[in-house]
Amino acid sequence: MNILFVTPECAPYVKTGGLGDVSAALPATLASLGHDVQVLMPAYRGVKVAGEIGDGVELPAWGPWPAAQLVPVKVENGVTMQLLACPSLYQRSGGPYVDAGGRDYQDNALRFGLLSRVGALVGTVHSPLRGWVADVVHANDWPCGLAPLYLAQSRLISPQEPTAASVLTIHNLAFQGTFDMATADPLGVPGHWRGLEGVEFWGQLSMLKGGIQFADAITTVSPTYAREIQTPEHGIGFDGILRARAARLRGILNGIDTRVWNPAQDALLPHRFQRDDLSGKAACKAALQARAGLRGDPAAMLFAVVSRITPQKGIDLVLQNLPRLLSSGAQLVVLGQGDPALQQALREAADRHPKQVAVTLGFDEGLAHLIEAGADVFLMPSRFEPCGLNQMYSQAYGTPPIVAPVGGLLDSVTDASADPVRGTGFVMTGADGEGLADALARAQRAWRQPQEWRRIQANGMARHFGWEDSAMQYLDVYQRARAAGSAAPASL
Ligand code: ADP
Repeated sequence: MNILFVTPECAPYVKTGGLGDVSAALPATLASLGHDVQVLMPAYRGVKVAGEIGDGVELPAWGPWPAAQLVPVKVENGVTMQLLACPSLYQRSGGPYVDAGGRDYQDNALRFGLLSRVGALVGTVHSPLRGWVADVVHANDWPCGLAPLYLAQSRLISPQEPTAASVLTIHNLAFQGTFDMATADPLGVPGHWRGLEGVEFWGQLSMLKGGIQFADAITTVSPTYAREIQTPEHGIGFDGILRARAARLRGILNGIDTRVWNPAQDALLPHRFQRDDLSGKAACKAALQARAGLRGDPAAMLFAVVSRITPQKGIDLVLQNLPRLLSSGAQLVVLGQGDPALQQALREAADRHPKQVAVTLGFDEGLAHLIEAGADVFLMPSRFEPCGLNQMYSQAYGTPPIVAPVGGLLDSVTDASADPVRGTGFVMTGADGEGLADALARAQRAWRQPQEWRRIQANGMARHFGWEDSAMQYLDVYQRARAAGSAAPASL
């Protein structure tokens, strides 16, 4: 299949979250399975892609959009990056979505409208890529939400011409890409599609809604999150339309990059280890305690958090449970950044208990690896979690996680109390303080039984979190989307 993966970010070039990781790993895995995969992404300022650069294609000025260029770079993993160059839209000093001061760019509708437009065009006979026409256009999150709409529009305008199937993946429903409805004019959203059945969301235009309404298939990043977002509690206003499209909605758990996250060959660790010999893990714990300034005590149970410090991640629940944890002699190491009030509370705890609590505020890839390897238990009491990666890393590193019973956490951790034979961690009874207290107590009891603990560790380390299974499921979605054909409203 010719697959065009359209994305606003792709690691290692530009990454603000999990989407960046998926954009790197999924296309590469699909290419390794023999498919012809191209990744379309804006050429932001400072983006350097190493590889064989091909001839660029000029895209003439079009509607509200200035002239642009597509620059192909063949990268080593078998994928071709198509960098969408349009300096006036993408060469900015801030991040992909916000300026240096953290404010949304005022012209985001046009910036990502163009990305969607070009993505859709590659799925038609008018593809600018010299004869390369996508069979499937895979759009990701709100910035690409209009690509399925534009493809549906092409189908209606030229029903006799083949057009690609469209797939939308929702990585986080909290980001909805809403703009003034007046942007529908320059974006070329047809009048009939500006209402409730189209892009309208509380009087505004939502690019994400455009994708949900017009995509031939919709996926999200875990089966549980796919169910949750159809409920009023987690649907953030979209539950109704997601329920209406439930037959085309599927959850596929993200994988992890096992070349980067593998304790047996992790170059960022001072000691490496594997399932049948955890001596390196004990050495990592000692190294972590030393680096964090904690008491160097192998018998102190070491809990860890690596996370954005936000209410979503349940950091307040950790703080709530801290007194009990510390009085039991346990230690806590935290790496993250985010909410100022939560950061302050964490810092105060570290100041009060310097030998038991260590807090590093910032982003530190090396320390994240050392924490995953050196900690005894990883904490992830998130209030919602579309997929989550750290709970998978921690299982691979012999660090059983405590997780809230939500989203991808539920799909990737087996509770050791409910299933003592296959358990890989501890699932909280509820995403609240009591649920965490209960899970902490269960983990502490299990830790005092070395044989039981080894089994939980070994189960997690044996688990397979690679991308291959997920890529096969995406291929199935692509095939079904092609077979099912258009689900779009039938009039322009
Ligand atoms: P989310 O995408 O909601 O932030 P995930 O668990 O899906 O949460 O992914 C977070 C990713 O970012 C993981 O790879 C995690 O290790 C990494 N990460 C988060 N905060 C930090 C930090 N302060 N330093 C290093 N890595 C971090």
